[in-house]
Amino acid sequence: MVSRELKKIALDRVCRLMDFARKHAIEKPEIAREAALLAMRIAQKARVRMPRKYKRMFCKKCGTLFWTPYSFTVRIRDRRSTHIVIKCLKCGYIKRIPVKKRSRSIYRAPTQKT
Ligand SMILES: [Zn+2]
Repeated sequence: MVSRELKKIALDRVCRLMDFARKHAIEKPEIAREAALLAMRIAQKARVRMPRKYKRMFCKKCGTLFWTPYSFTVRIRDRRSTHIVIKCLKCGYIKRIPVKKRSRSIYRAPTQKT
């Protein structure tokens, strides 16, 4: 069991690391990748949920930040239920995010006006 204070520290560290990674994603992609993977490991170890905006910012498998051009693709698929597919172009990892109606997600599908 991880104490509440420790979780707080871990979350702060995760946020700092992800901000750092985002800042250096273009000029130093290798350092950004290491930072993203480290942030993920810290969150796992402290059993802290990674904030959604950071969680969707990098590849879970190889750590590449989805911040630079030609590092990912985004598609909307309407099979089974509507979902968003983000594919990492470095390792091929596929992240699927279900789309709920009227969600506050940043990847919200465009709604039709009737
Ligand atoms: Zn990847």
